[in-house]
Amino acid sequence: MRRIADNISEILERIHAFEKSYQRPEGAVTLLAVSKTQPAEAIRQAYAAGIRDFGENYLQEAEAKIAALSDLDLTWHFIGPIQSNKTRLLARHFHWVHSVDRLKVARRLSEQREDSQAPLNICVQVNLSGEDSKSGISLADTESFCQQVATLPRLQLRGLMSIPAAESDFGRQRQQFARLATEFKRLRSQFAGFDTLSMGMSGDYEAAIAEGATLIRIGTAVFGARI
Ligand SMILES: *Cc1c(COP(=O)(O)O)cnc(C)c1O
Repeated sequence: MRRIADNISEILERIHAFEKSYQRPEGAVTLLAVSKTQPAEAIRQAYAAGIRDFGENYLQEAEAKIAALSDLDLTWHFIGPIQSNKTRLLARHFHWVHSVDRLKVARRLSEQREDSQAPLNICVQVNLSGEDSKSGISLADTESFCQQVATLPRLQLRGLMSIPAAESDFGRQRQQFARLATEFKRLRSQFAGFDTLSMGMSGDYEAAIAEGATLIRIGTAVFGARI
């Protein structure tokens, strides 16, 4: 089995090469390590290899790891489906939430974020495929939804996130990401601090970087297959 540190240095090299080949500024893309199902020890190894941003999908599992790793200077991102009765814990323990697609959830996160904490960073999740079964706001409704989120006092609207339908063809991967990137560029001038395009996973991050991703969410390629 490969070591986590080896995986990370390889991914960072590839990110760097893709930034170059797609005319992105050096350092434009942040690697978010998706640590769902991985033990705290694996996160320590990734930290030792230079990673500071970690993504979790399941609140209970994440809370235990956040507590166990409180000695490290980590930035925690919640990227999973949100239950509206669990927003208080999200507001308390995370720095970012990428999966906001309901106003009720956004309002609760704002109300429940402590005044002593920095505003909670928010990405609005967009559903690119238009399948009803998928989470996310439609592209057509994204602007008005963002306008409402931007008024909430304890949130900082940072950008857009999407999980496009799995697609192995590079050209079609790019087409999906390009649709989100177009909306991102259009909204960018409307909202102060709107600087994050969260797209790309282990199987499609080259296409995401080519289309302007600023943050890629990588699980398997960092930690190996999930157990
Ligand atoms: C699991 C997950 C990822 C990482 O997926 P990999 O294919 O393992 O890189 C990224 N984003 C979200 C929202 C996820 O749930």
